[in-house]
Amino acid sequence: MPWRVGPHDRRDGVRPDPYRVWLSEVMLQQTTVAAVRDYFHRFIARWPTVLDLAAAEDADVMGEWAGLGYYARARNLLKCARVVADQHGGTFPDAREGLLQLPGIGPYTASAIASIAFDRPETVVDGNVERVMARLHDVHTPLPRAKPELTALAAALTPQARPGDYAQAVMDLGATICTPRSPACGICPWRDPCLARTNGTAADLPRKEPKKPKPTRHGIAYIARRNDGAFLLERRPDKGLLGGMLGWPGSDWTDTPDPAPPMQADWRALPAQALHTFTHFHLRLTVMVADVGHANPQTGQFLPPATFRPSDLPTVMRKAFDLARAEFDTPPD
Ligand code: SF4
Repeated sequence: MPWRVGPHDRRDGVRPDPYRVWLSEVMLQQTTVAAVRDYFHRFIARWPTVLDLAAAEDADVMGEWAGLGYYARARNLLKCARVVADQHGGTFPDAREGLLQLPGIGPYTASAIASIAFDRPETVVDGNVERVMARLHDVHTPLPRAKPELTALAAALTPQARPGDYAQAVMDLGATICTPRSPACGICPWRDPCLARTNGTAADLPRKEPKKPKPTRHGIAYIARRNDGAFLLERRPDKGLLGGMLGWPGSDWTDTPDPAPPMQADWRALPAQALHTFTHFHLRLTVMVADVGHANPQTGQFLPPATFRPSDLPTVMRKAFDLARAEFDTPPD
């Protein structure tokens, strides 16, 4: 992983860059390594240091983050970079307590950065570590109720020597050997003490409380195109879902949304809806499109083709645009 410093390099005195560790940990919250990798490379290429990121335009950072989801993370990323730049001279605090004071850094992320970047003996417990601990100790309490127990078991194993290497090793063990479906117990360095392997329960662990079914909400997105090819977009309020991101004007997302067109026009509904799943609900978005001549709306902003990048949109808004593209296939007047 591009943010890692391996044990051999560490032994030779190479220290991890706390900026890279922090950036990767924020990106990895709720997101897989595979999804994060390209975003990480792009951020590092564009903003190589925390001072560069702190000086970035908000819209540029939100645009680069588009598609990665959980957009509050991007807003907090910027806030955190600016606090580190303004209040800490561009240097991250080197212990968990100091890191916890920064925007967007919760207990898990603070422990991970303190451990990985600064080799502090903090207990780092992600989903991989929970699974390894549940199996190693044959814990049958279901998650999330088992979290305190699994954290205590992980804490008891955290060593004083090379805790950064240890934390990454246990996470990697969970990601590559003690995998959810078919753990490779035969090559596992913990196969001898592992109680789940002895008891034949590994495949059933960790247990999980049944998930509640997600409700479905409905919404309406309005995609207006002007004669010059510009599209009407708005920046969403900082607070709330997709906060601070570019998007199409639209209704609230509810059981029965009220129409909320941004202007009078000959709106027509597309036959297909944009479907998207958020953490707590499914969304079915009806997409309305209109050619609006030379209109000047009171809200939002028409972005000309030269500055509108669909990749700056969050995924659900991009799905709506993908549906509308065919409708706008014919060139404007
Ligand atoms: S022995 Fe098997 S179940 Fe136990 S920790 Fe290793 S891979 Fe996981």
